[in-house]
Amino acid sequence: MPRLVSHPDEAIVLKRRFGQGAASIDKYVELEGYAAVQKAIAQGPDAMPNWIIDTMKASGLRGRGGAGFPTGLKWSFVPKTSAKPKYVLVNGDESEPGTCKDHLIFREDPHTIIEGAMIAGLAIGAKMGFIYLRGEYRYLLQIMEHAVAEAYERGYLGKNIFGSGLDFDIVTQTGAGAYEVGEESALMESLEGKRGVPRIRPPFPAVVGLYGGPTVINNVETIANVPHILLMGGEAYAKLGTERNGGTRLFGISGHVNRPGVYELPMGYSMRKAIYEVAGGIRDGKQLKAVVPGGSSCPVLRADEIDVGLDFDQMAKAGTMLGSGGIVVLDETVSIVEFALRTIKFYQHESCGWCIPCREGTDWIKKTLTRVYEGGGQKKDIDNVQYLAENMMGRTFCPLGDAAAMPTLGFVKKFRKEFEDYIEGKKAGTPLITVQELVGAGH
Ligand code: SF4
Repeated sequence: MPRLVSHPDEAIVLKRRFGQGAASIDKYVELEGYAAVQKAIAQGPDAMPNWIIDTMKASGLRGRGGAGFPTGLKWSFVPKTSAKPKYVLVNGDESEPGTCKDHLIFREDPHTIIEGAMIAGLAIGAKMGFIYLRGEYRYLLQIMEHAVAEAYERGYLGKNIFGSGLDFDIVTQTGAGAYEVGEESALMESLEGKRGVPRIRPPFPAVVGLYGGPTVINNVETIANVPHILLMGGEAYAKLGTERNGGTRLFGISGHVNRPGVYELPMGYSMRKAIYEVAGGIRDGKQLKAVVPGGSSCPVLRADEIDVGLDFDQMAKAGTMLGSGGIVVLDETVSIVEFALRTIKFYQHESCGWCIPCREGTDWIKKTLTRVYEGGGQKKDIDNVQYLAENMMGRTFCPLGDAAAMPTLGFVKKFRKEFEDYIEGKKAGTPLITVQELVGAGH
């Protein structure tokens, strides 16, 4: 079960998530469910779209998938009129290693996703929404589909929603298990039944998106915030966080802590407190060595760098990213060389191969780090890894290239001595898994 640092009354996104059974429509409605969409409709057809978008802008909500783009601003980019149908797309391709928050929303509060998507549709004038779950979340699809069926049975979805004269339909879909389709344009390709590779931009999805129509695409957690924001008001939501970083955020704290879990914390919350108070500190009395702060693509922080607030701006100032909110805590026993190898192995495996710097760069880094890890490394290997990663940065077709290069650079720059020790035959840390498992046949 998710754990909260705050009293449940203060929770926003996790408000309905204490085994209250909000996955059922009766319970959801009892807990103020579908009140936000009705509040929006009550503004009247002319005022409603701007009222929703202004409220979202005032909330300071920034995309919870990782990029942190302001949600209200994103919605305002969609043209008012369009010859092609407009769409709402909910990105549930939660694939970033260390990230485990959206599955809780799918499991415990699926109607929030439906209601948030409906509100996004009302804001931009879309009549259709898609909820896309990662392939490995097929076990959650039944829950989501059941919730959608319940909403149709009640007449909440379909024709003339809540007597507004407006229609809104929702379709659910799962991917086939590729990390790459978490990238918004690759997700649209996948949804259209094509190979999940990214599209050239511009044009951006707000203008030319799914099936060529204007599309807003938002992460599950972002969408799940929307009904709460409309009910409590944009300004009140903004005040929960820090300047330019409104509200609360779900953080999945995993690794070597006493109480791993998904916690809802205010934006700007101290990372040190999150690790030592919320998650109970480092397990077995060990010392903290490093933290991967927002999913595996974020540059690592050393133990002496965790006095930083958990919001997009403070993390950027600290030279890393808030990312997807997946905080991976590493204690003193961890081999950073092994961790770096394991990370690049993931990105090399998930590279779609579309562009050369990513396809070849991830493979060369993986091969070089494998050699260092296995004990056959040369001193120039460290510089070579750094050179490869630096030359991938900003030169790839989609962010996966950067996602592979950034953590690699962080590990090599901040823990160079450990790589040198490996080359000199002095291995540090306790292996997480065997070399055979790590290097893996065929990868
Ligand atoms: Fe594919 Fe990697 Fe290029 Fe993205 S950066 S398009 S994942 S090869």
